Amino acid sequence: MDFRLTAAEARFQREVRDWLVANLPPGWGTPEFRRQDEPAEKVRFARWWQRRLHEGGWAGLHWPPEYGGRGATPLEQFLFAEEYTRAGAPPMIDIGVGPALVGPTLIHHGTEAQKRRFLPTILTGDEVWCQGFSEPNAGSDLAACRTRAELHGDVFHVTGQKIWTSYARFADWCILVVRTDFAAPKHRGLTFLLVDMKTPGITIRPLVEMTGVAWFNEVFFDEVRVPRENVVGEPNQGWQIAITTLAHERAGSAPHARLAGEMRDVVGLARRAGACGDPFWRQRVAQSFIEAEIVRLLAWKQVTETMRRGQPGPEGSCLKLVWSETDQRMKELAIDVEGPYAALARGSRQALDDGRWEYEYLWSRAATIYAGTSEVQRNVIAQRVLGLPRGF
Ligand SMILES: Cc1cc2nc3c(=O)[nH]c(=O)nc-3n(C[C@H](O)[C@H](O)[C@H](O)COP(=O)(O)OP(=O)(O)OC[C@H]3O[C@@H](n4cnc5c(N)ncnc54)[C@H](O)[C@@H]3O)c2cc1C
Repeated sequence: MDFRLTAAEARFQREVRDWLVANLPPGWGTPEFRRQDEPAEKVRFARWWQRRLHEGGWAGLHWPPEYGGRGATPLEQFLFAEEYTRAGAPPMIDIGVGPALVGPTLIHHGTEAQKRRFLPTILTGDEVWCQGFSEPNAGSDLAACRTRAELHGDVFHVTGQKIWTSYARFADWCILVVRTDFAAPKHRGLTFLLVDMKTPGITIRPLVEMTGVAWFNEVFFDEVRVPRENVVGEPNQGWQIAITTLAHERAGSAPHARLAGEMRDVVGLARRAGACGDPFWRQRVAQSFIEAEIVRLLAWKQVTETMRRGQPGPEGSCLKLVWSETDQRMKELAIDVEGPYAALARGSRQALDDGRWEYEYLWSRAATIYAGTSEVQRNVIAQRVLGLPRGF
């Protein structure tokens, strides 16, 4: 692991920091701003912020310059994510599906026409994307996908259902994995489509999460027409394309920077609640602090590995597993410190920190599910990092 920055990297880090200070919207990070819970309002704001990032030259940081990016190295991406998170900057547009997943997938596998059509509007935030991979019986096992697409002339007819599709209600486009050959082995016979969400035959039903907010959705497809030119790669070879998308899902973030900020807030909460005088609570706070520090070191270890190999490897699963479980324990600590007040949600007069920790605790449950569950990460670590034999 190498923590030293070259002069150019340190300059880059300062450039990010200075730009954020100068450009974050006034009042950003205050409770008033945080209270903008209404998803449609958040999406409007995210589009505005994405435009600003683009104008500042920060959108698609790691994309090649010929497609509008800056060709940033994994370390520069990491430093950007660290500074961005440290500054508490707004979440990325469409939780990053467009810039972080669709863009790199099209850059690797798209036709020139697809790149020219879609990449510019991803960078500016003019078009928002969602990821239509999971189905009721195909989550961890994505290759079990049953949504069907049949080619009639030059048009696919898509029928089936996706679930847990974040952002679908606000998305202009969807990356969709469908089955085009039911006779082939399950990893073959899949096709990767770009679907216009305004096409007739698409029905979207919001799913309310236990936080009370509806970010994700069920999406139903009934004979939805998708032109043949919207296939990425070749028909029946969608698995390879989906793997590229998933590889990018686990790369390029800085979870340790968010955890460090939240740790400071949990310590503040413990002080205000009078818990720091008690050795029991002091031990728990110290334990959480140590775990957050381990996440920081793992994040540096991962970026060092990526720099060495030139691309992210299976070690990313160690970081995902450890940060998501550390996150959950930290949020448990916060609500334990709050005691009976933890049951009070935002808007309740007596809620501590305006119910922030109640919300964060519930939301943290998702972290060990999305981008691969903890069990799946453990399988990857066992087989691909430690070289252990496959289970039965
Ligand atoms: C907040 C959030 C946002 C999401 N957004 C999207 C989105 O935008 N688009 C999208 O397509 N999907 C999205 N998902 C879905 C997510 O990708 C799936 O939930 C995830 O892949 C797990 O699939 P599943 O829910 O079907 O669970 P299953 O795969 O059915 O798993 C059920 C349980 O079995 C365990 N399990 C499964 N296989 C194995 C195995 N081989 N070995 C050991 N244990 C195993 C799992 O760990 C889990 O505990 C989102 C999920 C969340 C929580």
